[in-house]
Amino acid sequence: MKKLLQDAIRERPLLGDGAMGTQLMIAGLEQGNCGEAWNLTHPERVLAIQRRYVEAGSDCIITNTFGGSRIMLTRHSEADHVVEVNKAGVEIARQAFGDKEGYVLGDIGPFGGLLVPFGDFTEAQVRSAFEEQARALVDAGADAIIIETQTSLEELSIGIEAAQTAGAKCIIGSMAYDVTLDGSTFRTMMGIEPERAAEFMEEHGAHIVALNCGTGMEMQRARQAVERYKRVTSLPVMVQPNAGKPRLINMKVVYDETPEQMVKDLLPLLNAGANIVGGCCGSTPEHIRAFRKVMDEFLESKGIEANGGQRESQAL
Ligand SMILES: [Zn+2]
Repeated sequence: MKKLLQDAIRERPLLGDGAMGTQLMIAGLEQGNCGEAWNLTHPERVLAIQRRYVEAGSDCIITNTFGGSRIMLTRHSEADHVVEVNKAGVEIARQAFGDKEGYVLGDIGPFGGLLVPFGDFTEAQVRSAFEEQARALVDAGADAIIIETQTSLEELSIGIEAAQTAGAKCIIGSMAYDVTLDGSTFRTMMGIEPERAAEFMEEHGAHIVALNCGTGMEMQRARQAVERYKRVTSLPVMVQPNAGKPRLINMKVVYDETPEQMVKDLLPLLNAGANIVGGCCGSTPEHIRAFRKVMDEFLESKGIEANGGQRESQAL
């Protein structure tokens, strides 16, 4: 039987995938339209993107369900399709692996608003939306639930609890940090430091602490985040940085860190103890292919087979 993700990554680091949103745009999704609905209307295009990640060497694929909660889908008049969108998201990611034994991470992104008293959404509304989404993802066979691009501990805890209620066997909490103006440190938009986030996630029963996206959080900053996480928790760590800083060119957001630029800081990240590494906004199958090569060399240097198990035991 396949190992639980949190156990498998204690034996050897795994490779995540790259961006979905920017890839959907390349495949023809217009800005402001509902990318998650493509799981039902254009499944072949979503599949093609995820297949390219698997071909590039991804061990973990995140489902195309970032905005798949009822609250998010309602904004696109897709509230009738919550369960189908999420179910299809898991099935497409699984199909992308073909015969390969990979991990499908069911994605829950932010609900896209603020909780009362700062915003209009009650905790009960958000909890019900996250539980519905988590249940659909788990029931469809996701190996883990990732609650990602989080900036507040309140929303994160609702997400973790929803995943627990849905019976997820592995729960990943992933924060989005921004580098401060003076460049001295980084914290989330809501002021959360990585140490606090990691302690909070461990207390609340997450299995993997992660970071993704953010502003100014390139590979070297991601390594600092891994070190800060590892100082306060023994849980495995996942990192998915953006391909550089977003820049506005001709009214389009562009991420222009090349695979070569990004991959040069991968080895320090692995040496810092990152257990899953992938990319967020702007990263492509080419970035992941470059990551695969460095990761395989890293595994070889440690005497670990990329497809699992120690080299010594394979030889017996
Ligand atoms: Zn991102």
